[in-house]
Amino acid sequence: MKYIIYILLSFNLTTFIISAEETRQVDKHEHGVGELNIAVEGSTIEFEFMIPGADIVGFEYVAKSDDDIAKINQALKTFDDYTNIFTLPSNSLCELDSQKVALKEEDEHDDHDEHEDHDEHDDQDEHAEENHNEFYAKYSFECGNINAIKEVNFPYFATFTNSGELEVQFISNMGSTSFEVEGDEPSINTDGKI
Ligand SMILES: [Zn+2]
Repeated sequence: MKYIIYILLSFNLTTFIISAEETRQVDKHEHGVGELNIAVEGSTIEFEFMIPGADIVGFEYVAKSDDDIAKINQALKTFDDYTNIFTLPSNSLCELDSQKVALKEEDEHDDHDEHEDHDEHDDQDEHAEENHNEFYAKYSFECGNINAIKEVNFPYFATFTNSGELEVQFISNMGSTSFEVEGDEPSINTDGKI
């Protein structure tokens, strides 16, 4: 399975192209469950989100109408300001170093090659209903006082009303921990884990 980048937006920050190593099968995700990897190394902390489109914009079919395209662009723009998604304690003195935000879609070209000779729109519509995509966002920070990150808050749940839970994998030199975060308690306690 291959993937394409549907839209890639970046404001004021470096734009990256998603490399093949970073892709994974987007149809393996579970709707209502966003994944977040947090990795701490030295004074750097990195956040990598992979969230089903259903949780963000409420659909995963290929956006064709102006309304749907606008929803996706608005969502990407929302991800472009990480404070819409999560916040770090100000005394940790973390500065955003780089970020990338993208919508990853299944590349259906391979699947549809067989059908190219036929004009089977009905079949294609069925495929469209099964289509999956996900929002990908990665943020890297340099922190003046990384040990001050005793919790991370997630305005994500308030920002995206379709959001479900976030499954968080947290890794530092102290070891790894996992969290399940939901909107009723939108934070994780990382005290003693960095
Ligand atoms: Zn899906």
